[in-house]
Amino acid sequence: MSVDVPATLEAIAEEVKVCTDCELCRGRTHAVPGVGDPNTRVMLIGEGPGFNEDKQGLPFVGQSGKLLSELLSHAGLTREDVFITNVVKCRPPGNRDPLPDEIAACSNYLDRQIEAINPDVIVTLGRFSMSRWFPGERISQVHGKPRRSGERMIVPMYHPAAALHQRAILPDIQADFRQLPVHLAKVAEERAEREKGDPDPEPTQATLF
Ligand code: URA
Ligand code: SF4
Repeated sequence: MSVDVPATLEAIAEEVKVCTDCELCRGRTHAVPGVGDPNTRVMLIGEGPGFNEDKQGLPFVGQSGKLLSELLSHAGLTREDVFITNVVKCRPPGNRDPLPDEIAACSNYLDRQIEAINPDVIVTLGRFSMSRWFPGERISQVHGKPRRSGERMIVPMYHPAAALHQRAILPDIQADFRQLPVHLAKVAEERAEREKGDPDPEPTQATLF
């Protein structure tokens, strides 16, 4: 039953690097499979690689990546503590929004990364990763509010690039990151309860949306 998570993630990354399942493969310099600790309890999912990410083959290495590192520090985390990836693994030309068929084509990689890592908490960054779990909702209304997906919590957050463009939302995104340890502790506590064999842990305030 034990899964070799690093090997699984590596195998997915190797597939991504040569993938031609959608049009985005045509303009890429490097595909960006994702990076981080395979044993992490936290996964962050952005939109897609930008100019710098495409050049380096790594997620969130440009300006929004710099802000993301700073935001993680509000949660007492570093990039090395988490796993960071995107909804689409290749850069949309001119940083345009990813198209529905591109997101659909790429979703099997994200599904398999989530399954392999099996994180307690998934932070969605921006509306494209948010709409995977919360279709049709408004980020301004749901940001920072955790919602359950099976035994996991999904926490929608603003995209760091949004905070670079609109400084007014920076305090919100900072506050949402500051709450992350609370969500993590909650899910870890529930997992510990389950592993002890408690048949029915009581839902608490944090589990309610
Ligand atoms: N924006 C994203 O959504 N992802 C990246 O990797 C970089 C910028
Ligand atoms: Fe393949 Fe995803 Fe890149 Fe499209 S964006 S070519 S599906 S890896």
